[in-house]
Amino acid sequence: MMTPGTLPATTRNDNMATATTGEIVFRKSVPQSMHGKFLGWLEEALAWMRDKHPATDFDGVRHYVFNRGGYRSRYYRKGRRGLEGPVVMIAWTECMSLYVMRSLGITTQKRLAVPGRVRVVSALIHELTHHHQHEQGLPRGEVLTTANELEWLQVAAPTLHQKFLSE
Ligand SMILES: [Zn+2]
Repeated sequence: MMTPGTLPATTRNDNMATATTGEIVFRKSVPQSMHGKFLGWLEEALAWMRDKHPATDFDGVRHYVFNRGGYRSRYYRKGRRGLEGPVVMIAWTECMSLYVMRSLGITTQKRLAVPGRVRVVSALIHELTHHHQHEQGLPRGEVLTTANELEWLQVAAPTLHQKFLSE
């Protein structure tokens, strides 16, 4: 059954048909004109994660929730507010920051203004990495999540990648 603000995988266009079996939920704060962009960004993040971690079933994520603003993106293993888990919740914000990780070369906390695609795809990669950690029984810290974000940034947005790494 379709609920308002929800777009089941089966109604998406051909390009998107195989991106995920999870249900996509757009909060009202995300304008309808942006939904197609978000679906493309989700497809991009899933393709990258499947290539990077082929042993993990990313179709196991039951819900994606996209919200404009909000406090932060999260991965809820057991569900969230009536949505069956795992739930990936993405806060679409103007700025982006990464965890300070000296081992990865991030020595200072920065909040950088980034394009929507960079913010959303990197947030998806971060939260999907938490899914990977759970599925594979890996430590659930922020080293691998941050390493994956950085690796994607290095190719997708090299200038921003440099800014996060510089002092
Ligand atoms: Zn995290």
